[in-house]
Amino acid sequence: MSTEKQLVELLKKATNIVYFGGAGTSTESKIPDFRSQDGLYSLKYKYPPETMLSRSFFDTHTEEFFEFYRDKVLYPDAKPNKAHYALAKLESMGKLSAVVTQNIDGLHQLAGSKDVIELHGSVHKNYCTRCNAKYELHYVVSSETVIPHCRECGGVVRPDVVFYEEGLDQDVMMAAVEAISASDVLIVGGTSLVVYPAAGMIRYHQNKQIVLINKSETNYDDKALMRFDEAIGELIDRVVGQL
Ligand code: ZN
Repeated sequence: MSTEKQLVELLKKATNIVYFGGAGTSTESKIPDFRSQDGLYSLKYKYPPETMLSRSFFDTHTEEFFEFYRDKVLYPDAKPNKAHYALAKLESMGKLSAVVTQNIDGLHQLAGSKDVIELHGSVHKNYCTRCNAKYELHYVVSSETVIPHCRECGGVVRPDVVFYEEGLDQDVMMAAVEAISASDVLIVGGTSLVVYPAAGMIRYHQNKQIVLINKSETNYDDKALMRFDEAIGELIDRVVGQL
């Protein structure tokens, strides 16, 4: 493991930090990683989460999708944690150029981050699958029917998130690759780097200054300059406080 002092020194010199984050960034906001199933959870649903969040499941089991989505994916009352706030502060200091996230919870923006690249979309954006009308998260949350319907045309309103079996948005992916390529320090937090193609993106970092913050080991541990296994929010908050 690396020391906090080493990280402080690295970030003091950095001018183009990019944060690449996964589910672990939001666990301190009490949003559990839906991939880490517990026993109760498996008992409640007949299908694994990857199935229930797939495009074909959405198309064929729309009602069951929305039950699962409201129960296990949506956390409309979640608040940003120390990690989100510290990263927003790094951006306002002019040291961080972008947050690239696999999360769909919108907590970086809620904490004040401006340049957020959401690889898998956002629960805050929703659209009618028939007429493309746009809807806020509140519309989906407060729908009286299990399946939210468009007030204009009656079509099904779906979240603008990337389901399994769907590809990432090309423009979003390009923006992420550009940001990561240009970064002088890439902080990778709360992801075990197993979900592709998002995980493959960190290869675009050119400067050999990757900082990994994750509770468990990742496939990239040997390529990282520094590695930490503590809580992301605590660590980043303390470090940013020393810059
Ligand atoms: Zn519509």
